[in-house]
Amino acid sequence: MYKNRMHLEFDSKSENEKFARVTVAAFATKLNPILEELADLKTAVSEAVTNAIVHGYNEGEGTIYLDCVIEDRTITVTVEDKGIGIPDVEKAKEPLYTTKPEQDRSGMGFMFMEVFMDEVYVESKVGEGTKVIMKKKIGEA
Ligand code: ATP
Ligand code: MG
Repeated sequence: MYKNRMHLEFDSKSENEKFARVTVAAFATKLNPILEELADLKTAVSEAVTNAIVHGYNEGEGTIYLDCVIEDRTITVTVEDKGIGIPDVEKAKEPLYTTKPEQDRSGMGFMFMEVFMDEVYVESKVGEGTKVIMKKKIGEA
C-alpha cells in the first residue's frame, strides 16, 4: 500500500487559511486529482481552518495542527485546535446553525465539508478543543 504523510503547525491567523489550503492541495497532487477534486479538498480545508481561527480561538492566539495522510488513493486531513470546543457537535453540524450570526456567518461550513469530502468526523470537548477528520478518495470520477 502506498503511504505518505505530512504535518503542519501554524499560528491561528487568517492569512494562514490560504497557506493551509494551498499546501494540502500541493501535497495531494501526487494523486493526480482532477480540478474539481482539488477544489473540493481546498474548500473543505478552508472551512475547517477558518472554524479553528474564528470559533476555536475566537480570532485570538493559538496553534492549529494540520495532519495529512495519503493511503493509496485516499487522503485524510485532520485539522485540530486547542480552543473553546463545541458543546453539541450534532447541533453545530446542522445546516444554517451558527453561533456568530452577527459576524455574517451563515452556518454552512460543516455542510460544505460533508458535501465535498466522503467522510467527516468531529471530536470536540468544551475547554479542550476540536478535531475535524475528513477523508476523500481521489480518482473516483
Ligand atoms: P460559516 O462556516 O458559514 O461561515 P459557521 O462557521 O458558523 O458559519 P459552521 O462552519 O458550520 O458554520 O460551524 C457551525 C458552528 O459550529 C459554529 O458557529 C461554531 O459555533 C461551531 N464550531 C465550528 N467549528 C468550531 C471550532 N473549531 N471550535 C469551536 N466551535 C466551532
Ligand atoms: Mg464555519
